[in-house]
Amino acid sequence: MTTRFQSRSVGSVRQSLRLLRFRIRHFRKRRFTCPICDYRGPFEDADRDTGIRLHARCPACGSMERHRLQFLVMKRVLEDKKTLRMRVLHIAPEPFFQPALETLFGHRDTADLERMDVGIRVDLCGLPFTGGTYDCVFASHVLEHIRDDIAAVREISRILKPGGLAFLPVPLVAEKTTEYPAPNPFESGHVRAPGPDYFDRFRPFFPKVDLYSSTHFPERYQTYEYEDRTVWPTERCPYRSPMEGERHLDIVPVCHAPVSCPGG
Ligand SMILES: [Zn+2]
Repeated sequence: MTTRFQSRSVGSVRQSLRLLRFRIRHFRKRRFTCPICDYRGPFEDADRDTGIRLHARCPACGSMERHRLQFLVMKRVLEDKKTLRMRVLHIAPEPFFQPALETLFGHRDTADLERMDVGIRVDLCGLPFTGGTYDCVFASHVLEHIRDDIAAVREISRILKPGGLAFLPVPLVAEKTTEYPAPNPFESGHVRAPGPDYFDRFRPFFPKVDLYSSTHFPERYQTYEYEDRTVWPTERCPYRSPMEGERHLDIVPVCHAPVSCPGG
């Protein structure tokens, strides 16, 4: 017990020093607040194949813009629900969200097509669950990897209980959704660039799809993507179209399953 306490203390002192050095080095940068870990100060920029994203990562917990928005949306949508009685299916599970989802929900299953560190290896287009198995499905940045995404959305709607919820965000990187002729390895195999119209694909399967965007939450939480997209298409992103503006909002769609089954 003493050893664990000591190692936690040493770890937290190191973390405090690291964050202090980061704050000093970047004292001119804008300051934000992380809604997940409550860190206050400048955020780190991210250097990706698609370009530099300013103010992207919380230096304390590592959350990116999308994690902070998804966290805020989940908190708002689930705050009046008895989540400890709920079963969640976490698809392509981010280690980042594991502690939060395990604390929040009474039961959590993890699934992925290829990864070995999940509970169930599944093809999202043909899920091995009977209808109405889960209260909630969380699949972030998954559908842009699947060519037959309509089949996947149909399966997700099938396995939800009446009144269940699906959180299905995708990266919004186009004015209008564009299908790629081939998966792009520099975008982790994306087969399309989704735009805000992408969420219309969910509507045939869910009677209600609520869209929560960066504009719905205080700016201090920094849920926008600060990225120069006028440079697209690039060699690494040949299928992306240029977008104006230096700041782009993100959206988390929350899909509501029918409250009662048809004929049930
Ligand atoms: Zn944080």
